[in-house]
Amino acid sequence: MVSIKEQIVVITGASSGIGAACAKQFAQEGASLILAARRKEKLEAVAAEIKATYKVKTHLLEMDVSDRATVETTLASLPEPWNKVDILVNNAGLSRGMDKLQEGDIQNWEEMIDTNVKGLLYVTRSLLPGMVARNQGHIINIGSIAGHQAYPGGNVYCATKAAVRALSEGLKMDLFATPIRVSSVDPGTVETDFSKVRFRGDIERAKKVYEGMNALTPQDIAEIVVFCATRPSNVNISELLVLATDQS
Ligand code: NDP
Repeated sequence: MVSIKEQIVVITGASSGIGAACAKQFAQEGASLILAARRKEKLEAVAAEIKATYKVKTHLLEMDVSDRATVETTLASLPEPWNKVDILVNNAGLSRGMDKLQEGDIQNWEEMIDTNVKGLLYVTRSLLPGMVARNQGHIINIGSIAGHQAYPGGNVYCATKAAVRALSEGLKMDLFATPIRVSSVDPGTVETDFSKVRFRGDIERAKKVYEGMNALTPQDIAEIVVFCATRPSNVNISELLVLATDQS
């Protein structure tokens, strides 16, 4: 295991679920954290807990990853030393609805594509040149089982996660012969606010997603993300599909 103490780690979607768990797990390793999301008060709560427990440095960004201009301006104006990013965890993402394509709400599609695909691209495009210039870095993309197999009603969400998978592959080719690593961590069902967001606050419907199964926890995924980040520099965990044991 390689130390990532004081390395600068950007985590998008750090205000809840997998992103917040990653923030805590990276903090446990002594990393300095740039935490990004739209809900500032949630970010502040995550940061307060981390600082109290681990005494690491945090820098908060209230940032909508789907807003290209905001992403570009915010990340271009990171102050010293935060502008030397070592690790980027592209985690911000969401699903909206579960409808057949012929019945789907086009606004839902826009949100998923803008966040899961374009958002990941905007953030990566802003931070990767710095990594290339310094000849070091690690990008960890949170994909999904949905990028490997479509499921009923999952059409557009699955397409966005298949795109994330393709982008990880493409990025590896773009960075070939550099020391910059690209890893994909693709979870199965993780119990978070994901389903609540998908069903726009319908908690009863969201709960049913996890009924009768022993879902993964955000912590399960965070440990794996940090495992990827703490391998020696000659080791790249290229892609990990992480399912709940009772998930096929
Ligand atoms: P949560 O809903 O708990 O977390 C999603 C995070 O993404 C929140 O912090 C949210 O912050 C952030 N986010 C959403 N939209 C934006 C945006 N436009 N700009 C910035 N941040 C945004 O769900 P999960 O933790 O489960 O999801 C994290 C990732 O894991 C997603 O990419 C998801 O697709 C993926 N995933 C989840 C699985 C699951 O079963 N839960 C399975 C496989 C993959 P805020 O609202 O404050 O902006």
